[in-house]
Amino acid sequence: MRRGFLLSTPREPRKTANHTAVAEPAPAADTKTAAAPERKSSQPATSPVKIMLIPTARYRRPPPLPQYLSGYQPYAVRRADVPKTTQPELQTMFISYNNMQEDLSALYPGWPLSFSSPSPAMHQVTPIGGTGLGLVATRDIAAGETIVRERPYIVQPAYIMGSGGAEDIYRTLEGFVSLMKPENRRGVYALRNSKGSALPTELAGIVDTNSQEAGPFPNYAAQYTGVARDISRANHSCNPNAHPAFDTPTLTYSLHALRPIRAGEEITITYLGNTLYQHHERQQELRELYGFTCTCKICCLTGPERRQSDMARFALQLHGQKIAEHDARFAKWVLGGAELLPLDTLEPHDFDIFTLDTTSWSIMESEEYCEPSLWEPVLARLVKGCSVLEDEKAVRFYATKAAELRMAYTGSDGGWRAVAENPRQTDWWAKLGDKRKK
Ligand SMILES: [Zn+2]
Repeated sequence: MRRGFLLSTPREPRKTANHTAVAEPAPAADTKTAAAPERKSSQPATSPVKIMLIPTARYRRPPPLPQYLSGYQPYAVRRADVPKTTQPELQTMFISYNNMQEDLSALYPGWPLSFSSPSPAMHQVTPIGGTGLGLVATRDIAAGETIVRERPYIVQPAYIMGSGGAEDIYRTLEGFVSLMKPENRRGVYALRNSKGSALPTELAGIVDTNSQEAGPFPNYAAQYTGVARDISRANHSCNPNAHPAFDTPTLTYSLHALRPIRAGEEITITYLGNTLYQHHERQQELRELYGFTCTCKICCLTGPERRQSDMARFALQLHGQKIAEHDARFAKWVLGGAELLPLDTLEPHDFDIFTLDTTSWSIMESEEYCEPSLWEPVLARLVKGCSVLEDEKAVRFYATKAAELRMAYTGSDGGWRAVAENPRQTDWWAKLGDKRKK
């Protein structure tokens, strides 16, 4: 989830046309992961009792929204202090247009719905060397686990209110925040302002620095953002271990673990719209938007290791641009007998799709970053392919990874957990039977 939408100019994704020299992801030095399937068939499957479908739904980045619905003109800016349940000391300033609050109450009776956050807390806000405050895990956290859920200080439209331009939103924000309880107002002003004097007020800089996407909200297509007390403290990494999400019914932000996090480890998210950028592109965007130089584990690589990381991320970008094409290749591969070609005779462009997917997954694991638009198509094909190849251990491994990532991105395992527990009962298990070439 990209941060800092307030008053920011939406940016086009970086073009990759200048990298056309690389046609396909290069093979990793060792494309076999710990759970890479054996290249041989196992014993025939027993008759499944109940056939399960392997999930095909995919998490996708939400498409960019227009500023307003076509023909929609906001005419009334309203403010509401949202009542608190589990955090009585916190007050949420919800800035909305027209009848948005009534629409939310009709859609979710009793809105905003009550919520809970892990107790005792799994995180604490603490000084981090050189970057001010940040979040640190206070105990071991499992992949997919919800780390914290909270109502934010402010939820507001990301772009311009009314017709008066940017000055309107500065004045409106200042006016609304001045009405907050003193302790909440102090909390807002204690957040970091990485914009310096680039914006006309300290508050505008703070909100722009700390905003996360919010919504969607009914009858309103523009982007909303929010500023939270704890989750807005999460620092950036190019291999983040957590992902923030917004829940409209409860008007809360939550933070979910993308992989296991150990007690004492910093909890990080990405501020970038595309973390698959190469090193110099990531640094440029972070300097322009947030005024800092990233010193994460990936950005600290030098020499050949940095070049390898950049190539790996570029290979994932290319793979992500060909999801539909690779789905077609996969279907053709299965129909053709799911033949695994010998690795030592292959050029990268000759890879069977199964090997390409195992390579892509290996890259995501070595980079410790699972691209949101890519991990599920890749894992879905690997689960199906390993089912066709009757490799139960590998199906369990890849389906468990998919379940953890689904939990982190959507709060639900999407059916992957059941697949991990019952590989032989899926519709792809031993799909080709004796017809598969051995
Ligand atoms: Zn970095």
